[in-house]
Amino acid sequence: MVLNALDAKERGADIRPGTRVIGAARADGHWEIEAERGGVRESVRARALVNAGGPWVSHVLDTLNLHERAHVRLVQGSHIVVPRLFDHDRCYIFQNADGRIIFAIPYEGDFTLIGTTDQDYAGLPEDVRASPAEIAYLCAAASEYFATAVAPGDVVWSYSGVRPLYDDGASKAQEATRDYVLVLDAPHDAAPVLSVFGGKITTYRRLAESALDKLHAHLPAPLRDARPWTATAPLPGGDFEKTRFDALVGDLARRHPALDPALLRRLARAYGTRVDRLLEGVAAPADLGRCFGANLYAREVDYLMEAEWARCAADILWRRSKLGLRVSAEQAAALEDYVVARRDGAERRTQAD
Ligand SMILES: Cc1cc2nc3c(=O)[nH]c(=O)nc-3n(C[C@H](O)[C@H](O)[C@H](O)COP(=O)(O)OP(=O)(O)OC[C@H]3O[C@@H](n4cnc5c(N)ncnc54)[C@H](O)[C@@H]3O)c2cc1C
Repeated sequence: MVLNALDAKERGADIRPGTRVIGAARADGHWEIEAERGGVRESVRARALVNAGGPWVSHVLDTLNLHERAHVRLVQGSHIVVPRLFDHDRCYIFQNADGRIIFAIPYEGDFTLIGTTDQDYAGLPEDVRASPAEIAYLCAAASEYFATAVAPGDVVWSYSGVRPLYDDGASKAQEATRDYVLVLDAPHDAAPVLSVFGGKITTYRRLAESALDKLHAHLPAPLRDARPWTATAPLPGGDFEKTRFDALVGDLARRHPALDPALLRRLARAYGTRVDRLLEGVAAPADLGRCFGANLYAREVDYLMEAEWARCAADILWRRSKLGLRVSAEQAAALEDYVVARRDGAERRTQAD
């Protein structure tokens, strides 16, 4: 997601992370959109509006006074992470007695990721958490297959999400369609709003191009003539041959012989060719700055804040990486202090300018 935002920014988009749309109204063939970030309000005028609110898609429609609630079915899915259950790099897919499948995937080197569940969800999307019953279900399902049983006490981390599926009236949550549905509201002469229901990460580019097709008549001339281009375009840092990852790491190690090879491999995996920007001017370990644990140095933290909009320790430990699995509570707290001080200092400087 962050790489997409970065890619869009480099192609001219205005990215405003942490900004909430709180209202919008049609006026003179445009949308007047009200947004808010950190208590500061801002307005944007737009020719068209795309509501890609995910599980919040209906909430956003309510904000626009367009009530489409019947379209979305919220289905919770949870995952658990346990210490590594097997040594190879393949995934397992297991058939459960209840007709569902679960998977077990090698995760972050030392762990195994097991998922997932499917159950209808009625709460607020932001409150979703893996329940003890879901954790017990995943442990029992995995234990059917692994030589060593998996118990809830083995779980080092769990996470949960809400699928905003298009409500096709299926009786069971796991049978609801995983296809995306695009709903266009464009009354005559009025600015359009396109809402996205459902979808997968695997098909997001196809979805985005379908969205532009739907909006075609409402786009300005240069965009109407544009051809689809996303099918093969790499994301930032992904501009190398897929089979050449080890060569990329080897080249990095040759150019940075003083740095820990495990760190270089992790950075190459996370940033691809952008690792050169992160390591610019770094010759010795001391050039990486303060270490926050788990081979995370100030240099990487600064890069994530400057290039990838990180604003708190959780952005770095959980959203831009999974280093949260490896740092202690004290190390995470020290990182939070560092990030907040740096962020506030940068904001004060911007205000002074
Ligand atoms: C448990 C689970 C397992 C999944 N497994 C897979 C899988 O294996 N493969 C796969 O391809 N896909 C999978 N998916 C689906 C995939 O995660 C989604 O398709 C994808 O995240 C959708 O992206 P999105 O940008 O449309 O929505 P989201 O990622 O949900 O983003 C919506 C964004 O809208 C923002 N927002 C909400 N309200 C407002 C507002 N008022 N103003 C501004 N912003 C707002 C939210 O903060 C959020 O950032 C899974 C999903 C779940 C929940």
